[in-house]
Amino acid sequence: MGCAVTGCDKPAKKKSLCWGHYKRDRCGQNVNVKLRDRETLSPQEALLKAACLYADAEDDHDYELRKTMLYRAARRLAHTAIQFQRTAKPVLARKSSQYPGQLLLPFCG
Ligand SMILES: [Zn+2]
Repeated sequence: MGCAVTGCDKPAKKKSLCWGHYKRDRCGQNVNVKLRDRETLSPQEALLKAACLYADAEDDHDYELRKTMLYRAARRLAHTAIQFQRTAKPVLARKSSQYPGQLLLPFCG
């Protein structure tokens, strides 16, 4: 069964709503809003894209917006790297000490 919100084609998870709309409902936000398309890029791809957009910023407003996007993308990759380290098997954990996300941790602090 699909989400009860018109135009949302995600599967219903709770109270006939998808997770995104359920979360909006729970936070008291307007539910009848189309959700942003969830980023389908991997964290690495999203960071690369954000970095390229940042580099191409044309004015101060653009620069600030894209700086925020870049920061979020970096945090997402760092978060993914941390999750990976927590869930990885011991053999993988040793290898993951070179995981690129670690380089980003100081940037995100
Ligand atoms: Zn929905």
